Amino acid sequence: MIMLQVIGDPIFHSKSPIIQTTMLDFLGLDIPYTPRLVKKGDLASYFSFAEHNGVTGFNATMPHKEDLIPFMDQLGEEVELYGAVNTVCRRDGKWLGHNTDGDGCLESLIHVGMWPARQVVLLGAGGAARAVALRLAQTDVEQIWVCNRTLPKALQLCQLDKTGVLTPVGFDQSTLTEVCSHAQLVINCTNLGMDDCPHQFDSFDFLDALPADAGVMDLIYYPSTTQLLQQAQKRGLKTCNGLPMLIYQAIFSLEYFLDRPLPRHELAQVVFAELGLV
Ligand code: NAP
Repeated sequence: MIMLQVIGDPIFHSKSPIIQTTMLDFLGLDIPYTPRLVKKGDLASYFSFAEHNGVTGFNATMPHKEDLIPFMDQLGEEVELYGAVNTVCRRDGKWLGHNTDGDGCLESLIHVGMWPARQVVLLGAGGAARAVALRLAQTDVEQIWVCNRTLPKALQLCQLDKTGVLTPVGFDQSTLTEVCSHAQLVINCTNLGMDDCPHQFDSFDFLDALPADAGVMDLIYYPSTTQLLQQAQKRGLKTCNGLPMLIYQAIFSLEYFLDRPLPRHELAQVVFAELGLV
């Protein structure tokens, strides 16, 4: 018996079960993928449950991505870099940890025609920003400005990069305007715009500095069109929300679970259709 899960708190709003079940059905695989509420601090009892109930792999979301690392027998090299795990597989009695957020973001940018970009403005320096910035830094990109409200966190993130393309800067309007005047792509990795975030961007004037053919991606997918994306669309810029990234990170996770390459583009189309996005 093989069983896959997604754990987190909250978890029952998660789109992972519908995405993974759609892909498993398409591949003709009768493997259950279910959500499980696991509260912060309860990972040890979850591993006991998983080992006794045939869980062969699981995805993890808030608040477990960092806390999982000490439970892993082996880590993918991207986990060492990103400091977080979102995909766990059980192989030969060992738990292996991976992180597919960086690959998922890059693949989604390619899918929506926003990549390659030479100069990128990345907003935020939290967990998601770290995976995205460090993955994009491994490409041919020339410059990524990591703009964060708390500048030392941007600095810390940039110090993890060995390629020299990441530059930490602040999050004030004049800095954002200055970096946008050199960029072809803006990626929002902050919480600003999420339904439960009490704050919003102070102003969207920085978008005026972007060239007409620039793109704006928001990692947020709920709401599906954030104020940032609405403002970008008003200015005629290309936009993309966080759903393509969510779908591609799920495809990379499924490749780890099944231990084989999958038809990524085809799977993405099937999931887009299931979610009513095509
Ligand atoms: P996180 O680690 O908590 O980081 C939050 C970031 O937002 C930090 O850089 C923080 O800046 C910034 N921020 C929060 N409130 C702010 C404010 N009022 N003004 C300016 N900056 C503010 O969160 P995360 O895990 O990286 O997630 C960030 C977003 O990405 C969430 O919306 C999440 O849903 C989304 N996400 C999407 C996907 C996907 O597949 N589409 C995957 C992962 C995450 P400070 O450092 O100054 O606090």
